[in-house]
Amino acid sequence: MEKITLEIEKEYDADVLVVGGGVSGISAAVAAARGGARTILCESGGMLGGVATKGLVGPFMTCYDREAKVQIIRGFFSEFVDRMVSEGGAIPPVECLAGGDGRSGYRPKGHMGVTPFSTECFKRVADAFCIEAGVRLLFHTTLIACEVEGDEITCAYVTNGEHIARIRAKAFIDTTGSATLAAKAGASTFREVVQVNSTFFTITGVDKEALDAYMATHHEMRERYFMDEIEEAKCRGEFDSGTQKLRIFEGPDGVWTVNMAQLNESIDELDAEQVTDAEIAQRRQIAQIIDFLKKNIVGLENIRLCETAAELGIRESRRMLGMTILTGEDIANARYADEQIAVCANSVDIHRESWGEYQTYSSEKNYYIPLSCLVSRDRRNLLAAGKCLSADTYAFSAVRVMPPCFAMGEAVGTLAALAVKDGCSPWEISCAEVQQKLLENGGYLEL
Ligand SMILES: Cc1cc2nc3c(=O)[nH]c(=O)nc-3n(C[C@H](O)[C@H](O)[C@H](O)COP(=O)(O)OP(=O)(O)OC[C@H]3O[C@@H](n4cnc5c(N)ncnc54)[C@H](O)[C@@H]3O)c2cc1C
Repeated sequence: MEKITLEIEKEYDADVLVVGGGVSGISAAVAAARGGARTILCESGGMLGGVATKGLVGPFMTCYDREAKVQIIRGFFSEFVDRMVSEGGAIPPVECLAGGDGRSGYRPKGHMGVTPFSTECFKRVADAFCIEAGVRLLFHTTLIACEVEGDEITCAYVTNGEHIARIRAKAFIDTTGSATLAAKAGASTFREVVQVNSTFFTITGVDKEALDAYMATHHEMRERYFMDEIEEAKCRGEFDSGTQKLRIFEGPDGVWTVNMAQLNESIDELDAEQVTDAEIAQRRQIAQIIDFLKKNIVGLENIRLCETAAELGIRESRRMLGMTILTGEDIANARYADEQIAVCANSVDIHRESWGEYQTYSSEKNYYIPLSCLVSRDRRNLLAAGKCLSADTYAFSAVRVMPPCFAMGEAVGTLAALAVKDGCSPWEISCAEVQQKLLENGGYLEL
């Protein structure tokens, strides 16, 4: 491979560098800064939120247990939701416990305790939390390389396309969604079969009363979600989307989120050419879906497209290899109770072509994310959260939703700050110390 030499034009010095400003990165950066660490958060885009904003994905999936009785994801997630609610940009999950309505996508099961939110409000609130905590935000800043001495990362190289900058830090947190930091640092990473990708879009003009009334009187629809209509339209050649269900969610401000444009084939999500082709194809598909919805679904006759997501929604990508790999069996058996940094109940939810379009099943009880699957196996000062966690496909598909991503981010930000304070590696900080801090900060654990 040919090498090029580039000039370093800027230098930054931090205690903690967080790379990637999605929900897990925001949470990690705020927790690290609140813990006293000088923290930089760099993000390729011009806003925080990642899939939640650029991807238009919502609502936040449930933060409750299986019976929708106890809120089990709290801490920074709750603070974030409360702030959005106070600004009129979210509906509190406690008001969405019944399920079966537009807020839960008319799903009678599994979607109780979701949080519908406005992406615009999300962006403002995320900025505010980071600034108030003292996080140095660097937008339009993409990580391109790392330097490593022994088993420690010493610095990262980033660019905005114009300048190359070096960022030195003591601890590094990978929240890129694709373990880019870990890969660039030569840490072990892995990829499993990748779930199919989708492009969200938003619409207005839904006749909510008509749609609600139709869904309320056609109970079979609440289970089957217009699969017959979609199948028939497919046979007539009017609809080639991969999805078999009406996936439409009511937001807080008259804007509805639609998750129906889907690729049937897996692509290499790390290859820009393939992602470009997918994005072009999905925008075409969305025009077809709008047409289908107008013609076929009661209450949607007069809908208008607001916007399509700025980028393809990538469900699953490369992940960092942690001290442990969380597995489907671990969550089915609620293992790692002693090491828990988050309690979850979201069901396994695999969108994968070779298994039919969609596979979902629920875990019987709450289960746990252990700290050890967020700590690199071979770099002493590297942590990861959100989509970069060390988990197999089954466990990943359950914990990849946003509330657990918030919780993972908070845990690694807390751990990084503790390590910086003690002048040691995150490997040397006990899980009990992290758990105690999470509880002090309003977290929920079942210890
Ligand atoms: C199609 C789809 C539907 C979903 N539906 C739901 C749902 O209904 N409810 C729910 O709760 N969850 C849902 N999820 C899951 C959830 O949205 C994501 O798993 C979660 O938001 C991931 O957050 P993250 O912070 O780990 O990563 P991301 O949101 O992917 O954020 C990563 C960030 O890192 C930045 N970045 C990447 N590389 C670099 C680099 N080299 N340098 C600097 N920055 C970089 C990116 O720009 C991005 O902003 C869905 C996901 C998808 C894709």
